[in-house]
Amino acid sequence: MTTIEHNLQAVRARIEAACRACGRDPQSVTLLAVSKTFGLDAIAAARIAGQQAFGENYIQEAVGKITVLQQSLPDGLPAPVWHCIGPVQSNKTRLVAEHFDWVHTVDRLKTAQRLNEQRPQGLAPLQVCIQVNVDGGANKSGVAPQELAELAQHLTELPRLRLRGLMSLPEPAPDFEASKAVFMRVRALFDALNSQGYGLDVLSLGMSADLEAAIHAGSTLVRVGSAIFGARSRAA
Ligand SMILES: *Cc1c(COP(=O)(O)O)cnc(C)c1O
Repeated sequence: MTTIEHNLQAVRARIEAACRACGRDPQSVTLLAVSKTFGLDAIAAARIAGQQAFGENYIQEAVGKITVLQQSLPDGLPAPVWHCIGPVQSNKTRLVAEHFDWVHTVDRLKTAQRLNEQRPQGLAPLQVCIQVNVDGGANKSGVAPQELAELAQHLTELPRLRLRGLMSLPEPAPDFEASKAVFMRVRALFDALNSQGYGLDVLSLGMSADLEAAIHAGSTLVRVGSAIFGARSRAA
């Protein structure tokens, strides 16, 4: 068994245990393997071990990997599903629109409008999560909670995007309860939108260090990098 396969099994076991502990179905949580900074060999090992959804932060780097992998498919495994989880500057929207299946980091209407215009007609609508900033830090990415409803409303009017949910990347919290409490603020915003009929089904919360707290708060998608692929050698 490869290290990556072993790590994937361990992460899946953590997800299952966390779901059991709070009475949730483990099938209700998607594991996104965050492969930023790792090469094609690591992605291939994860795919062989049954992993289908991959998350990338650095758009240029990701497009290189996506393109190479696409050329070497089909290999009998389901095609990878690519999620952009890094910041999307205006000059990168076209690459995101043309190469990714999902983007988790939309936090301004301008970015959404560009993605909508640039999403090729031959592809399915781009699946979108709005990134929300629930723990302050004015220069942090993410829409402020009080501006969320308006952005969500505008997104539903863009035909080449499909609003699926919310994502958040809070500062690391000191312990499980503190972490869960921050995630619950995102959950409350998610529930509020759904009570207005948005039908959101994705709550993208939790990483290697805090996926249990995120699952207790209702996460349906955990973004896990280092626990699968190991420590990253460059800053991320
Ligand atoms: C890098 C990254 C992750 C994964 O972090 P790990 O701690 O390695 O699991 C998740 N989400 C985002 C947005 C990231 O940038």
